[in-house]
Amino acid sequence: MRVYCIECGKEYGLMDRVYTCRSCGGLLDIEYDYEAVKEVVPSVWLKRSMGVWRYLELLPVLNPSLRVSMGEGGTRLVHCRRLGKMLNLRHLYVKDEGGNPTGSFKDRGMTIGVTKALELGVRNLICASTGNTSSSLAAYSARAGLNCIVLIPSGKIALGKLAQALIYGAKVLAVKGGFDEALRIVRELSAKPDFYLLNSLNPYRLEGQKTGSFEIYEQLGGRPPDWLIIPVGNAGNISAYWKGFKELTLLGLTDLRPKMVGVQARGANPLVKAFRKHKDLTPLDQVETVATAIRIGNPVNWRKAIRAVEESGGLLDDVDDEDIIKAQRLLAKTEGLFVEPAGAVPIAYLMKHREDGLIDVDDVVVCVATGNGLKDPDIAIRFSEKPKEVEPNTECVLEELRRIGVV
Ligand SMILES: *Cc1c(COP(=O)(O)O)cnc(C)c1O
Ligand SMILES: [Zn+2]
Repeated sequence: MRVYCIECGKEYGLMDRVYTCRSCGGLLDIEYDYEAVKEVVPSVWLKRSMGVWRYLELLPVLNPSLRVSMGEGGTRLVHCRRLGKMLNLRHLYVKDEGGNPTGSFKDRGMTIGVTKALELGVRNLICASTGNTSSSLAAYSARAGLNCIVLIPSGKIALGKLAQALIYGAKVLAVKGGFDEALRIVRELSAKPDFYLLNSLNPYRLEGQKTGSFEIYEQLGGRPPDWLIIPVGNAGNISAYWKGFKELTLLGLTDLRPKMVGVQARGANPLVKAFRKHKDLTPLDQVETVATAIRIGNPVNWRKAIRAVEESGGLLDDVDDEDIIKAQRLLAKTEGLFVEPAGAVPIAYLMKHREDGLIDVDDVVVCVATGNGLKDPDIAIRFSEKPKEVEPNTECVLEELRRIGVV
C-alpha cells in the first residue's frame, strides 16, 4: 500500500498528515499490492456482510480495530422497471445512497477518514460543506469522541442537513460566502497541526467511497454496468467510483468497465465547460442551483474527474434546475424513491438525453442517487400542491375527492 502524487509521483507514508503533494500541489492517490490481494479476493469478501468494510483488503487502514463504523454502505441497488419503461431502458438501476446512516454517500468516506484520524491521533476534525459532508463528519466524530468543526455557506444549506450537524454536536460556523470560500479557509486552517481536514481532498475518504463500485459489481451478479451516471460537485465521488471499477479489473474480477457520465447543474458547471473546451478548469465565482449539494464553482478533484471521464470513454454534461425538480418528482412518483435534488441529477440527464442514441435500450445503466430526500423538505414542499383543508366529515372528504377527479 502506498500514497503517491498523481502529477509528479512523489510518495508519502500512510502516517503522514498530508492532503495534497508537498512538492507540486497535485492530488494524492493510494495504490495497493493488487497481486497479493488477488490471492484472497473475492473469497474473503464473501464471508463478510455487505458494506464498506467488506472490502478491507482495498482500504488504506493500518489498524482496523480502531474502526469507526455505523453500518455504512450495503445500500440497495433498485431495478427501476416503471421509470425504465418511460425512459426506454430495460436495465435501469438506482443506487440508493440515501440509505446510509446519515442519509448520503458521504458516510462511506467518513468511516475511513475518521478511522484514519484515530490512527493519526488527531483530535479536531474540520470540513467545509454544502451540507452532507458536515452531517456525516459530525456523526462520525461524535461516535469517535472527537471534535468536529464545520464551515457552511451561510443560508445555503438544506434544513435537514443543518439539523443533523447541530444535533450531532458539531461546532457550526456559517461563512458569509459560498462553499468555495469556506473550503479555502478550511484548507488554510488544516495546514496547522491542530486541525485534520476531511473534505474530499483527503485521499482516504475517496477510498471509502469507491466501495460503491464494488457493491454495484456484486449486486449486478458480478459485472459492472455499461453506464454509471453520477452528480458532480467537488468531483470526488466520480473519481472514487472510477477508481473502484478500475481496481476490479486490476484484480482480474472482470474485463468490463462502465462509461462514466458526470452531470452538473447548469448554474454550477465549471467541469462541463472545461471538458467541452479540452482546457484546464476555470473556477466560477458565481454559482447557483436548487441542488445545493453540488453548488460548487471550484471543484478540487477536477483533474481526477476529467481523467475518469476520458479514460472510460464517458462524458460530462449539465442539466437545469427545472429538469432536476422534474426528475426528483418522477423518481418519487414512479419508484417510491425520494432523493434530494442533487441525487436526481442523473435521472434528469436521462430524461433529457434518451433521444441522443448514445445509450442502448438493453444497456445496463446505474444512476447514483447520492442523498436522501428528507434532507431538503423545503424543496419538495415548494414544488408540490399544498394539502387542501376539509371539514371533518366523510361527505366533505368525498366531495373534495370528486371535485379533484380522484373518484
Ligand atoms: C457531496 C454530494 C454530491 C457531490 O459529490 P462530489 O464528490 O462533491 O462530486 C452530490 N450529491 C450529494 C447528495 C452530495 O452530498
Ligand atoms: Zn506532486
